[in-house]
Amino acid sequence: MTQQELFHRLEDVRRRMDNALQAAGRSSSEVLLCAASKTQTAETVALAAELNIDLFGENRVQELVQKFDASAYGQKPVHLIGHLQTNKVRQTVGRAAMIESVDSEKLILCIEKEAAKQQIVQPLLLEINIGADQNKTGASQSALFELLETAEQCPHVLVKGLMTVPPKADTETEQRRYFAAMYHLFCQAKDRHYDRCKMEILSMGMSGDFPLAILEGSTMVRVGTALFGARNYPQLSV
Ligand SMILES: *Cc1c(COP(=O)(O)O)cnc(C)c1O
Repeated sequence: MTQQELFHRLEDVRRRMDNALQAAGRSSSEVLLCAASKTQTAETVALAAELNIDLFGENRVQELVQKFDASAYGQKPVHLIGHLQTNKVRQTVGRAAMIESVDSEKLILCIEKEAAKQQIVQPLLLEINIGADQNKTGASQSALFELLETAEQCPHVLVKGLMTVPPKADTETEQRRYFAAMYHLFCQAKDRHYDRCKMEILSMGMSGDFPLAILEGSTMVRVGTALFGARNYPQLSV
């Protein structure tokens, strides 16, 4: 992919973001664009880093570490947006400006321990499985407040908001209902006072549905395909 192609795809995404923001009566500074760069090479990521995107999102720790250590993200932060196993926490803390996929007490405690060791405060989002989908990661809606209580005991983590990957719905109305439910949860959490929680980010919306997510209050969209084209998953080597 050339930088010119990327530029045009990005312009299109930004235009669609602006249209949705305008329709919602929101200002354009209210939503961040996260480029979901899974499977993209360090070279492609470095080209994108020079353009008007706010940050990168990676699914796999190994890819994040490789591209981070190769300085592919330039001055842009990178977030972990895919599932995190506790045995990969050590490599992730400190490299990921935010861990968006935190969905268990065990994971919060593990991140706390590593962040304490590195003497940093690790920002994170709590991932909610808003569709209660058996096949998806994320904590259940009802677990949110327990997780916030856990984070209260952890001086080296800071909860900055919520993230979700909702199920694919058949209609726009149904899709919006998931996003609206997330926004409601986000507001509920915001209304309570926590020392280790500053509810500022609601990360939702991907290539297929980001305008709808913006209409329902998203403050960060994670866009992959619409920016980089269809993903080529690496072939198994023979
Ligand atoms: C891949 C991915 C995205 C982006 O998906 P697209 O449909 O390609 O835009 C967003 N969020 C997460 C968690 C992802 O894994």
